Amino acid sequence: MDYPIFVHACARCADNCEIAGAPRYFLLWSGQLYSIANTPKTEEKLVLYVDMNLLEFQRKYSDEEACLQAIFASRWPRGYVCPYCGHNDGHRVHTRRSMQCCLCRKQSSITAGTIFEQSHIPLTVWFLMIFFVAQDKGGGSAMKFSKQLGMCRNTASFMLRKIRSALSARDETLTLAGFIEFDEALFGSRSKSKRVGKPPSTGKKYVLVLVENEGVRAGNLVMKVVDSPMYEDLKPVVAEKVESDPPGQWMVADGWGSHHVALELGHKLRMGHIPNDLQDKVLRCVSLAVSHARRFFKGTYHHYCKKYLQMFLDEFCYRWNRRHLEMQLASHAIVACAFQKPYRRRVPKAA
Ligand SMILES: [Zn+2]
Repeated sequence: MDYPIFVHACARCADNCEIAGAPRYFLLWSGQLYSIANTPKTEEKLVLYVDMNLLEFQRKYSDEEACLQAIFASRWPRGYVCPYCGHNDGHRVHTRRSMQCCLCRKQSSITAGTIFEQSHIPLTVWFLMIFFVAQDKGGGSAMKFSKQLGMCRNTASFMLRKIRSALSARDETLTLAGFIEFDEALFGSRSKSKRVGKPPSTGKKYVLVLVENEGVRAGNLVMKVVDSPMYEDLKPVVAEKVESDPPGQWMVADGWGSHHVALELGHKLRMGHIPNDLQDKVLRCVSLAVSHARRFFKGTYHHYCKKYLQMFLDEFCYRWNRRHLEMQLASHAIVACAFQKPYRRRVPKAA
């Protein structure tokens, strides 16, 4: 007969124990009682988001072990689950950054499958950068972090890209509802060519801006780079980002013909020509978001590569959509980074 390695039973409830903070016991086949003491207790696991200023953050994540515990708690808030066999118990291998499954005995790294995977940068440095990117309204450039954290610019740039990819992934499923203002804005510098007669948009990027108007304040924000302000380019973004279940959101736009896309997607549209002096009143939230974004780019990056514009916009939108959680943003960003798949520098070519 094929016996299991141990009988999976809790000494208290004889089942998978879900009592908060209760130690879990397992009866080994040899007759010994085995306790899972290294897995964080439920109560401390579930308190993931906490208000922290810089000093509190540094105190909390002062060493590698504390950072590793935070990644563990983010990945497995209800206890370790083996990625190989799905068993829900394991213990920490103290000589490595790994957990060992109690059933199949396979080890898996706590940082595997996150942006920290195979990184030689100390986790404390990672966490510090996450804090500044998430909680500092102005974000930061790779050059600034390379000086502040003592690393070369390329390393800082690569780390930043990983963190930004994690932040933008959190808003991927965000949809807007209610009263939504939308318009296009131009970002980037003009083409350096001095040919007379070129339109002012030459060399710039079109960005579709959608923002919820909640009366007194602006709500959630989505900014997407589009090839042109034409109907076929706006349609996929509006279809993806405006709530369609149920359809019929109220949308406000200026008199540009392509904005009829809202009607075709089943929403209600209020549009008409808006004189320049009334633009900031009628589309108040759009103007506010665009001016804040432009100020952020100008102040932080000065001159930025338009190739990465969407990445910068995602970082800006992440902070905007969580600005009421300002002091918690660092802990939100840590959870986002722990859930993001590793960022690959080179994508292998298809065979
Ligand atoms: Zn296993």
